[in-house]
Amino acid sequence: MQDAHSHLQDPRLDGIRNNIIKTMVERGVSRCVVNGTSPKDWQLVADLAKAYPELIIPSFGLHPWQDPSPQWFRQLTSYLDNVPHACVGECGLDRWVENYDIKIQEDVFVSQLELATKRNLPLSIHCLKAWGLMLEILESKALPERGFLLHSYSGSAELVTRLASLGAYFSFSGYFLHERKQNLRDTFKIIPPERILIETDAPDMLPPESCIEHRLKLELNHPANINKITTEASRTINTSRIHDNFVRFFELGF
Ligand SMILES: [Zn+2]
Repeated sequence: MQDAHSHLQDPRLDGIRNNIIKTMVERGVSRCVVNGTSPKDWQLVADLAKAYPELIIPSFGLHPWQDPSPQWFRQLTSYLDNVPHACVGECGLDRWVENYDIKIQEDVFVSQLELATKRNLPLSIHCLKAWGLMLEILESKALPERGFLLHSYSGSAELVTRLASLGAYFSFSGYFLHERKQNLRDTFKIIPPERILIETDAPDMLPPESCIEHRLKLELNHPANINKITTEASRTINTSRIHDNFVRFFELGF
């Protein structure tokens, strides 16, 4: 069982992180991608990957909600140079968050896209309410040969074919199992099975009650819920290739 997107470094998990990881391993989670979001959490992501090299795939990125510091890109390059098996992300575009500056977001995202392309690294993209610009960028730039991941894909069904032809993988979040998210589940029905991945986005994106096997306080999502999420997701979407997809996208060439 593999989790394509999580934030185990999140400060809300301080003090309970090792127990969470123990449960994940006991419950058969074999791989978990941990996405840093700014230079402030990259070191913890690197430390976790060093402590649990079998389980954790580290990813370093500047999230669109985070302000770029003058040194962020140099620091990012250095983490990618020094941490084994490092991926790029979470990065992207977000017009949903308050007070966004889309021009800054675009510059920051394009820098990370170019870096992932140059090194052919797995790239995890966040996109909310900015699909027009995202598509414009992806259709005009060189892209990583291995493809790229649109995490928690919430774009429209109409865009799936274009994005898939550019090399997109799409990850399905346990959050999409809430009854009111039927339109997102319908979108995943038309995504080619060889491009589907599955994620918790833990500790965020609490799935519906039926998928909560492991509880954390404060309504946080336990990453070991990936088992139940996968079982429930397989009732509506084609999850038959998720294991091979994960290996092909995240592990090939490392
Ligand atoms: Zn995330």
